[in-house]
Amino acid sequence: MTAAGTTRAERMALPLARTVVKDLAAEHGACLRPVQLRRTDIDTGHVEQVLIPCGHTLTSVCPACAERARILRAAQCREGWHLDHEPVINPDPATEDQRAAVTGRAGAQVDRDALAREGLDTSELDQRIGELDQQITDTGLRGHVLPARPRRQRSTRRRQDAASLPRRPVSARTVGKTYTAPDGKTFRPSLFVTLTCPSYGRVGEDGAPADPDTYDYARAARDALHFAALFDRFIQNLRRFVGYDLQYFAAIEPQRRLAPHVHLAIRGTISRAELREVIAATYHQVWWPSIEIVRYDGDRLPVWDEQTSTFLDPDTGEILPTWDQALDAITGQDEPHHVTRFGARFDAQGVLAGSRDASRCIGYLTKYLTKHLGECHQAVTDTQADHAARLADALRYEPCSPTCANWLRYGIQPKNPRPGQRPGACKGKAHRREYLGYAGRRVLISRKWSGKTLADHRADRRTWLTSALGLPATDPARYSWEPVKPGDPDHMPNGQRLLHVIADRIQWHTALEMARRRAAEADLPQPGRPHDEPT
Ligand SMILES: [Zn+2]
Ligand SMILES: [Zn+2]
Repeated sequence: MTAAGTTRAERMALPLARTVVKDLAAEHGACLRPVQLRRTDIDTGHVEQVLIPCGHTLTSVCPACAERARILRAAQCREGWHLDHEPVINPDPATEDQRAAVTGRAGAQVDRDALAREGLDTSELDQRIGELDQQITDTGLRGHVLPARPRRQRSTRRRQDAASLPRRPVSARTVGKTYTAPDGKTFRPSLFVTLTCPSYGRVGEDGAPADPDTYDYARAARDALHFAALFDRFIQNLRRFVGYDLQYFAAIEPQRRLAPHVHLAIRGTISRAELREVIAATYHQVWWPSIEIVRYDGDRLPVWDEQTSTFLDPDTGEILPTWDQALDAITGQDEPHHVTRFGARFDAQGVLAGSRDASRCIGYLTKYLTKHLGECHQAVTDTQADHAARLADALRYEPCSPTCANWLRYGIQPKNPRPGQRPGACKGKAHRREYLGYAGRRVLISRKWSGKTLADHRADRRTWLTSALGLPATDPARYSWEPVKPGDPDHMPNGQRLLHVIADRIQWHTALEMARRRAAEADLPQPGRPHDEPT
């Protein structure tokens, strides 16, 4: 029977074909927004359409890709946590181009330094050096020839209110100590640590403050904005304290009170007392101009001057102090804009390789990675919603970075000012509700964790799968790739791509199922868990 002659209500009850396609795609773990590429075989000229997953890390955008990304992170975490050998990181030797670029840079440096010694103008050569540095980066070299020189020297005197730490020389070792039990068994314990922000006022079970009026929202906002820098400082201190190149895999997450906290898997072990000492001694000072006085507000805002590309006072037409001038005006007598520290409460537990505890902790570390910080704890009550709104309010006029439009409110031009900047309307992610003031990376991994990048871990899985299925390895040099754009004759609309992706997934599943059965019959190790499919 066709839909003709049925009532509207009956027709509405029929599933929508497009929804079924999406549901089926999700059910088969397929990407919901596959990207279409045109692949040309360089030898034969044969053209094929290839659909690759969008690779998004948020469930709200693409559940399948987000889940695959999370699993990859878990694999990366697991592989580095209990390493018993130093990861080998051998950079490729420099190419001819790279060597030539650095040689050219050396010549320019000598000329510049000679001019500087004579007290002559070096601006032309400085500009040339800037271009050469860019060329060096373009050749694919990592890092910079010279470390960036801080323009301003801030006092490095320790704060009186922070304990000092013993410093040990940091050795190149990255793996933890091994212990031997009386029965001769050796084990190498590792650590799972959680660091939190300090208290801003008492909160209830639901994360909302007992007294919102005394809860320190301004401090909560600033601590969130500078959380990444504080974490960095903590790692530096910890390495100097333990005396080796300690490695970590860390994930930033929100607590119920919407303050960021960080879970860390640490290779090797440190006692609770030592951790407490390092946490107490760790702080980060932000030397930004003062924002005590609101100078421009409401309709009276600085105006942009096309000619000088600067902001002016709307009444006097005076040019506002630039970012650099405002920084130069900070003296040794001034207090820092903000001092951020961790809370005294922390959690640390020893974890043994391969234990259930280890798996549980890896679960914690990757649990929220597929969500925005602000979406991990949805407000269900009015008090929770009110708390989230108050935090967002506190973040609205708080400067998020030197380029933040909010500096105009305090009478300072943001770094690299642009027309259209307006206080309270900065485009920086940190002000957006879903970020809760923290716009940095959600996963922070030290360089010598597993010795592999995420791309390496992905390639590992793919290699494993192609060999499990007995597929020939494809030679990447054989093809050229280009994106297919809407309007191209071979462009497929998303619905059509989804149909292809569903059919592909089913084919993969069948092939993997057959490989499993063959392995079972031959009594070989079982290949294939549900998530080991190609990405
Ligand atoms: Zn996707
Ligand atoms: Zn901003």
